[in-house]
Parts: sequence; structure tokens; C-alpha cells
Amino acid sequence: MGYDNDNIFAKILRGEIPSHKICEDDETFAFMDIMPRGPGHSLVIPKKPARNILDVDPASLAAVMRTVQKVGRATMNAFDAPGLTIQQFNETEGGQVVFHLHVHVIPRFAGVALKPPAGPMEDPKVLAENAARISAALEVA
Ligand code: AMP
Repeated sequence: MGYDNDNIFAKILRGEIPSHKICEDDETFAFMDIMPRGPGHSLVIPKKPARNILDVDPASLAAVMRTVQKVGRATMNAFDAPGLTIQQFNETEGGQVVFHLHVHVIPRFAGVALKPPAGPMEDPKVLAENAARISAALEVA
């Protein structure tokens, strides 16, 4: 399976469709998931095209995981979350829906289950507020 240049995250990286950005560097981009499985759910993606973990360049994967760690710590601080779930899916049978590598970063709280995937779209105002909250926590980290 190859990489489709017109997948939705490629369009986000090109600025063709909007996103609620948390941060970016030369190799990675972090933004809010529009159908969050909990408040503060974000995604980290490589800028270099990769379908999933099976074809990603190892240096690009390492950069993604560095950003996952930073965003994960900032998210826990921003939401005062005692736990953090990191998820990553590969191919349709593995649960992947968007075919540009992405890692889910989800703050977790005692007794609160994850909402099902593909739930309702979050209010853009809430997504913008949550992105700003995580960004601000990155600054003080
Ligand atoms: P998966 O491929 O199963 O890891 O899931 C793709 C994720 O991308 C889901 O959690 C969706 O809610 C999320 N998603 C889909 N479209 C967008 C978008 N335009 N902006 C942000 N997140 C998105």
C-alpha cells in the first residue's frame, strides 16, 4: 500500500484545510483530534509522508515520539490528568482510518472511559481552547 498525497492530514500539513495546532517543528506537527475520545485528545504526525508505522523513516518516527512525549507531558499538566493513553493504528484491520501516520495522545482520569471512536465533532471553540491550553503548558515545561 502506498501513500496518498490527498489524505486529510496531508491537506492539513499543506494548510489546505484548517486544524487546531498545538505546536510544530521541522519534522512534526501536533493538533487537536476533531472527534476526541476525551477532552484534550490530540494527534502528532510526521511532516515527511508516511502511511503508518510500517513504512515510516525511523528518524521521522523518532521525531514523532519526541513530540508525543513533550505533548503528552504538557497535556497531563494542562488538564491535571493523572494518566495518559498513547494509541497508534496500522491499516484498516488494525483500526487505521486516516492513512498518514499519526499517534493519539489522550489524557486519562480515574473512572472515565474513552468515548467510542468516530464520535461527534467537538465544538471548534473548545478545540481552540484546548490547543491553547496544551501550547501554554509546553511553554512552561
Ligand atoms: P485512526 O486512523 O483510527 O487512528 O483515526 C483517525 C483519527 O483522526 C480519528 O481519531 C479522527 O477523529 C481524527 N480526524 C479525522 N479527521 C480529522 C481532522 N480533519 N482533524 C483532526 N482530526 C481528524
